[in-house]
Amino acid sequence: MAEAVIFLGPPGAGKGTQAKRLAADLGFRQLSTGEILRSHVARGTELGRLAKPLMDAGKLVPDEIILGIIGEELAAMPNPRVIFDGFPRTLAQAEALDRLLAERQIRLLGVLLVTAPEEELIRRLLGRAQQEGRSDDNEETIRARMVEYRQKTQPLVDYYARTGSLKEINGLGQVEEVYQAIQAALGLRA
Ligand code: ADP
Repeated sequence: MAEAVIFLGPPGAGKGTQAKRLAADLGFRQLSTGEILRSHVARGTELGRLAKPLMDAGKLVPDEIILGIIGEELAAMPNPRVIFDGFPRTLAQAEALDRLLAERQIRLLGVLLVTAPEEELIRRLLGRAQQEGRSDDNEETIRARMVEYRQKTQPLVDYYARTGSLKEINGLGQVEEVYQAIQAALGLRA
């Protein structure tokens, strides 16, 4: 059966790490719009050239581009079983995703809101900057990403709370503890 899970939360909350693990355990495909965009930037595609300055400024990439990416990925899957990581990030993206889920009869298993205090998020992102060298992990860009999150993505918390799909996960603590909370929220463990 076609099924999906959405990871929602601010930059640095650990969505990517948890999404990867959940995808592996469930046999789902992890669809990270950030990773797909970084791969376009690395390959120097037209889309990558358009996205790079926005990503480096901590700004969101336009909805049409993101929806194009997601539409293409889903169209290539006969029976989508997907973990959305970093998507949707705006109300327009969430509404478009609702339509896609309905059209393809994909059941939403839950929307996992992973959060942590902002000082902790910034500390983690600055630490990652040193390890991975992502060009958007510098302090100025991180602050801009937080502002984009608060203005454009945070409204999705209410959107999904209204439909009853929202599950709040405390992103502080060990990766393992957070993962257990996610499994419990999805009813995957007793
Ligand atoms: P993080 O969650 O740590 O900010 P991501 O890898 O999810 O990192 O995203 C990196 C950048 O890619 C974002 O700052 C934004 O510019 C772009 N991006 C990723 N996903 C989306 C999306 N769904 N809508 C718009 N922009 C996106």
